[in-house]
Amino acid sequence: MAKQREPFYVTPLWRTLRQQCLTRDGYRCTVPGCRTPTQELTADHIQRRPRDISTPTAFDVLANLRTLCGPHDRSVKETSTGRRRNDGRLAVAGCDASGRPLDPNHPWNRRRAPAAS
Ligand SMILES: [Zn+2]
Repeated sequence: MAKQREPFYVTPLWRTLRQQCLTRDGYRCTVPGCRTPTQELTADHIQRRPRDISTPTAFDVLANLRTLCGPHDRSVKETSTGRRRNDGRLAVAGCDASGRPLDPNHPWNRRRAPAAS
């Protein structure tokens, strides 16, 4: 059975907020280093809004929204318990949460040889 969409997500306010979020973020996923193609973008509430409330809440503001690609949105999607998957941590495969590659041999991680003294 198809999951019923929450009533808030069909309101004009949400449509406007979602559009503002995508525009602000340049129609790109906001996870550092993410290069996922952008056909499937979501305006995600950073702090989750209460469920089944169709009227605006304090969580429905642009500052509480971020653009995520489909894979990143799904990686932190709330489960039926209301908790986010991966404890809400977003990362690109092979990178830490800031987007830095985990590979110690990546050029960003190479340390310069100590200066001769
Ligand atoms: Zn992404």
